[in-house]
Amino acid sequence: MKKTVINELRKDPLVGRWIAVLGESLPPSAYIGENSRETAKENSCMLCAGRESETPMEITRMSPASLADPARKWSTRVIASFDPVFTVEGDLGRRGEGMYDKMNSIGASEIIIESPHHHVQPEDMGLDQMIRVIQTYRDRMADLEKDFRLRYTLIYKNHGKSAGALSGHPLSQLTSTPVIPKRVKEEFDHAKQYFAYKERCIFCDIMREEMRTENRIVIESRHYIAFCPYASKFPFETWILPKRHNCAFQDIRPDEIEDVALILSSFLKKLRALFPDLSYNYFIHSAPNRVTRKDHWHTLGEDYHWHIEIMPRFLRTTGFEWGSGLYILPTSPEDAAKYLREV
Ligand SMILES: [Zn+2]
Ligand SMILES: [Zn+2]
Ligand SMILES: [Zn+2]
Repeated sequence: MKKTVINELRKDPLVGRWIAVLGESLPPSAYIGENSRETAKENSCMLCAGRESETPMEITRMSPASLADPARKWSTRVIASFDPVFTVEGDLGRRGEGMYDKMNSIGASEIIIESPHHHVQPEDMGLDQMIRVIQTYRDRMADLEKDFRLRYTLIYKNHGKSAGALSGHPLSQLTSTPVIPKRVKEEFDHAKQYFAYKERCIFCDIMREEMRTENRIVIESRHYIAFCPYASKFPFETWILPKRHNCAFQDIRPDEIEDVALILSSFLKKLRALFPDLSYNYFIHSAPNRVTRKDHWHTLGEDYHWHIEIMPRFLRTTGFEWGSGLYILPTSPEDAAKYLREV
């Protein structure tokens, strides 16, 4: 039995950012050779079908698309993380330490196993399987929104070594936190201000502008556009934005699930056609938990608009970018979109 390690959340008093500090510190040797670390091979991978009893606790599973293949007992599985940074047991224990603020890292850290098969790339899973992955995302978000201690749930994917992938097995991750992370909070604040000023959703305005100019659009489907944002931080960064205004991803309708599965896999195929061994991250930006609370954000439904951001990982961030937060983009979003459209 593993002993429970208590991690804590500390607030940076200067910029208001929360940081999770692990209760059990890693020694320097743990960082050496980080980038050359091998990801799990198929024969040592416990996320593959048949080794279900060896993984951390199973939270849920989705049945296979067809019962014709009895060897496949599931199509997607959600399990607790191997080394969870956030855990569900306990209370927040908000407290001060001298001038500083901290609390326990209550939350959820989960692994969404996207397929029973080890070698399948997300874009090659087939539309039915991708739909199940998206349904699993939706179900987990909806479930965690009910926990009043949690403020935000982020679903994200790390694909490839330089994107921080855990394993060679296709998976996404989910982290639910008792605070709203700074990066998403900035989006919420700006969306709220924009709405208060213009009485229009900023994302709906971005969509209209992108559809008018067209030169940054990569793919347009019935319910979504995939486009390279006007002021992207990274080359070939792409967002998928739903045409129907809605703040929360988990309110997605069945026909929209099908369509987002289609546009996401089509986009990933295009990305791979341009960059065969690319590492990338994607994540879903959705509304914070909508449980009514003291400082409830009443206009959330109007102000915010969920979306997916996809970030290819080519370049090392330089001192200038770290120091200033001002990113240098060597390929313009207009050219990136053109390359992606034409491939
Ligand atoms: Zn595997
Ligand atoms: Zn909108
Ligand atoms: Zn976003």
